[in-house]
Amino acid sequence: MPTILWWIRRDLRLHDHPALDYALQRGRVIPVFILDEALLKNDAPYRKNFLFSGLRDLDAELRKKGSKLVLRRGEPLVELYRLVQETSADEIVALEDYSPYARIRDERIAKSLPLRLFAGETVFPPYMVVKSDGTPYTVFTPFSKAWKALPFVSPSGLSLPERFPSIPDEILSFPFPEASSPEGFLPGETEAINRMERFLAGTVGQYAESRNRLDQEGTSMLSPYFRFGMLSPRMAVSRVWKLLQEPLLPEEKKGCETWLNELIWREFYISILYHFPHVLKMAFNPALRAIEWRNASNELEAWKAGMTGYPVVDAAMRQLRATGWMHNRARMIVASFLSKDLLINWQEGEHWFMQWLIDGDPASNNGGWQWTAGVGTDAAPYFRIFNPVLQSARFDPHGLYIRKWVPELRNVPEQYIHSPWTMPVSLQSSLGIHIGKDYPVPIVMHHETRTRVLEAYRKSQKTYTS
Ligand SMILES: Cc1cc2nc3c(=O)[nH]c(=O)nc-3n(C[C@H](O)[C@H](O)[C@H](O)COP(=O)(O)OP(=O)(O)OC[C@H]3O[C@@H](n4cnc5c(N)ncnc54)[C@H](O)[C@@H]3O)c2cc1C
Repeated sequence: MPTILWWIRRDLRLHDHPALDYALQRGRVIPVFILDEALLKNDAPYRKNFLFSGLRDLDAELRKKGSKLVLRRGEPLVELYRLVQETSADEIVALEDYSPYARIRDERIAKSLPLRLFAGETVFPPYMVVKSDGTPYTVFTPFSKAWKALPFVSPSGLSLPERFPSIPDEILSFPFPEASSPEGFLPGETEAINRMERFLAGTVGQYAESRNRLDQEGTSMLSPYFRFGMLSPRMAVSRVWKLLQEPLLPEEKKGCETWLNELIWREFYISILYHFPHVLKMAFNPALRAIEWRNASNELEAWKAGMTGYPVVDAAMRQLRATGWMHNRARMIVASFLSKDLLINWQEGEHWFMQWLIDGDPASNNGGWQWTAGVGTDAAPYFRIFNPVLQSARFDPHGLYIRKWVPELRNVPEQYIHSPWTMPVSLQSSLGIHIGKDYPVPIVMHHETRTRVLEAYRKSQKTYTS
């Protein structure tokens, strides 16, 4: 019976896993995770904690089946080479990982070791969703049409064996790093599946509307689980397709369709990064690569610290630091504020998000930043600039989100909560909060920044065309 190493990377699950299914059918499976120093040196506390507690959860699931997770630490090629020697493994199987770092790593490994890759990080691999001439899509709508037209195959539904092959004690395994899962995000596939089922049984019905509300839990909060493959995207899509076949109210149907679209956005950005890896270094749009960004370190620090004087921006930035999470609408508001109002390079924000987000993912994060800064593929036109006060009033109408994360504004009346600097001084005194002392005055005035940013973007375009 052949021995097969199941090399786990960003696919911490047993369900709907083509590489694991193949290995179980073929031989003796040894599940392995390698703590790669190159990735561990990233300073991303929430994501690391989520990953580490996810590894413990996967190990516990494997132990229930008589197996266990072998944990190694080091350079993947070296560790895999050692493991192949130690276990006399015939093959290594894994799911394709489409990030540029992973592709280079895997190509190198496949040159010297028998590595077999299977699709599974997405419903359709990025090389499948291409135009008829084989070139990639760079606009979301035609991408999603092509994606929806591909033949969808539901997960097989085959149940896993009760018992997996046991792992010999001689195989060295490192102790698991200490970790506590970030608040609100229990690790593991059981939690992921339950979360999805809860969402699809209720919230999805109002999703088309509620997904933008900062003061409500209107989204699935599944991104960290997709990020680490604790939930198979194919399984999620199959559940939505199934739901869409049931008799639904119009808003429920709309909710399901909108959610499906978001899952496709995830695959769109994975595809963009796959076909255009240079987006990690520069704007997708070549005409917007020469923007003269401001070098304003004090303002950048105020943005990071949640001290810009715009309550909605500050609430979101503080929530990020305190929990590793930020709502999608809030991500757009703070990204627009940094790149447009402050005219600070979006890459500073991209980097900061990667440091703090629990779901930080190079493809979605880069896509989100390029979209909001208006420099990317399917970007919002760059002259569409979010007004942080109007966004706040629309998506956090009573200021509940603000009051939660910016406690110094807790008692500010609804009328002033989105722009507290407009509060009469007498009211400030009676409330005991002085804007400028207890909470900052805005570091820039939104209405004054528009000309500056439009000028900078136009100048870059001009340099490009001349
Ligand atoms: C500036 C910026 C940075 C972002 N960085 C990341 C990131 O690092 N990692 C990440 O997973 N998402 C990122 N997003 C996308 C989005 O904000 C999150 O996926 C979403 O907030 C996750 O919440 P949810 O799971 O409740 O999503 P839901 O609304 O329930 O959507 C379901 C799933 O669809 C996917 N999805 C939803 N919206 C998007 C989107 N706009 N782009 C790509 N996929 C999407 C996610 O996997 C999500 O879990 C970013 C967006 C912006 C504007």
